[in-house]
Amino acid sequence: MKWLSRALLCSFVALGAGCASHSTTPTSPSEAAAQEAKAAPTAPLLLISIDAYRADYIDRGLSPSLQALAATGVHADSMQPSFPSLTFPNHYAIVTGLVPDHNGIVNNTMVDAELGKFSLSDRKAVSNGLWWDQGTPLWETADAHGLRSATMFWPGSEADIQSRRPDYWKPYDGKVTPDQRVDQVLAWLDLPPDQRPSFITLYFDAVDHAGHEHGPDSPQVNQALRDTDEAMSRLVDGLRQRNLLDRINIIVLADHGMASVPLENNVLIDKLISLKDVDTVSLGVLAGFNPKPKHDFNAIEEQLEQPQQHMHCWDKTRIPKRFDYGSNARVPQLVCLADVGWRITTEDYLAKHKGKISIGEHGYDNADPLMQALFVAHGPAFRNGIRFHSFPNVDVYPLMAHVLGIPPNFNDGNFGDVQGMLKPEAPAATH
Ligand code: AMP
Ligand code: ZN
Ligand code: ZN
Repeated sequence: MKWLSRALLCSFVALGAGCASHSTTPTSPSEAAAQEAKAAPTAPLLLISIDAYRADYIDRGLSPSLQALAATGVHADSMQPSFPSLTFPNHYAIVTGLVPDHNGIVNNTMVDAELGKFSLSDRKAVSNGLWWDQGTPLWETADAHGLRSATMFWPGSEADIQSRRPDYWKPYDGKVTPDQRVDQVLAWLDLPPDQRPSFITLYFDAVDHAGHEHGPDSPQVNQALRDTDEAMSRLVDGLRQRNLLDRINIIVLADHGMASVPLENNVLIDKLISLKDVDTVSLGVLAGFNPKPKHDFNAIEEQLEQPQQHMHCWDKTRIPKRFDYGSNARVPQLVCLADVGWRITTEDYLAKHKGKISIGEHGYDNADPLMQALFVAHGPAFRNGIRFHSFPNVDVYPLMAHVLGIPPNFNDGNFGDVQGMLKPEAPAATH
C-alpha cells in the first residue's frame, strides 16, 4: 500500500522532486542521500531521546556536540514532562501528543482488566499493540501519508499498533552500543530514496542508568554524558560527511530529569497499611493500589488520603487537576506520589535489594525543576541560535507533524506554544 500512496502523492505534488528520478546517477549511497535531501520537498526528521538528560545537565559542559547543535539551533530552557515523569509514559506522549492518561501508557508498570500486567521487561506485553492503541504514534501517521519511518529503539515501536509498524525497527536491546545505534541511523539515511525513512528515532539510555545507580551529581553521570556525546559527535560527523547536517531536522530531547534520593529517604508503606489488604500495582516514586475483594478499600483510602509525611495519596478521581491524570481505567484506584527525593517502598524490599537501591529517581511531580528535560532542535526548519521558553512535551508532536508536513492526529499539544522556534520563512512541506 505504501508505494501506492507514495505514487499517488507524487502525482499530486506539483514539485514532486522527492519522487522524481534524478538525472545524474549517484556513485555512492552517501552521495545519493545528499542528492535526494537536496531534491526532496521535506528534510528528514531525526528524533533523538537521551533518557533522563535533565535540562541543566547541558550546563556541565560535557556535551560539546549537543552544545554546538544548541548554539546553532533552538535551545529551550527546558521541556516539561507529562505526569508521571517516567520513561514509557513520556516517550509515548512525545510521539502521540497525548498525556499518559490519554495515551494509555499510564506507568512503566500497570494493569489492565483485559490485558493483565505490563512492565518494561515483559517482552510480550511491550510488543502487544493492544497496550498502545489508545494513541497513534507519529510513525503511523507518517506511514498513512506515504512517508517511511525507522526506529532505533522507542517505546511502542516494537508493537503492531492498529495494524501498522515503523518500516524499520529493532527489538529493544540495551547491549547495542551507542555507536552501533548511530551507525544504524546513518545506514538508514544511506538507503536509496524510495526506501529511505523520513522520520527516524534514536534512543540512548546510559545517562538514565548512571543517574539511577549513582545519582544525578555523580562522576558516573558525568561520564555517561561524555560517552553519549561521543556518539552524538559520531552522528554529527556522519551527517556532515553525507552533506546532510544542514538538511536534516534534528530534535534532541529527554523524557524527564533525575533527582537524588538518599538511601534513608524511605516511606515505608507497609508500616502504614497492610499490603495483604490491597492489590499493589506499583511501588517506588508513584505507588498504585487497587481494591482486593472482601477488604475495606474505603477505609484504606481514608487513612492514606490524610496528610502523610513525604508523600501524597489520592483516590484517582481526586488527583489534582494539574497532573492531568486519573481518568484512564489503567490508573489504579489509589495512587501515592512520593515527594521529590523520597521513595515509597517496604522493609522487605529494602532488605532483599540491599546494595541495589536506586539513589536517583524520577516519576515525581512533573512541574518540579529536577524533572525538567532537555530540548534542542537543529536543522533547516528551525531558527538559528535562539533560546526558547519552556513548554510541555506533548507540544513536540504537532511540531514534528508540521515539520514533516503531515496532519497531526487529535492531541493534547499546542502548536502555538512552539511555532516560534520555526523559521518564519519555512513553508509547511507539501506531500
Ligand atoms: P525507568 O528508568 O524505569 O523509567 O526506565 C528506563 C529504562 O527502560 C531505560 O534505562 C532502559 O533500560 C529501559 N528501556 C528503554 N526503552 C525500552 C524498550 N523499548 N523496551 C524495554 N526497555 C526499555
Ligand atoms: Zn526515562
Ligand atoms: Zn529512569
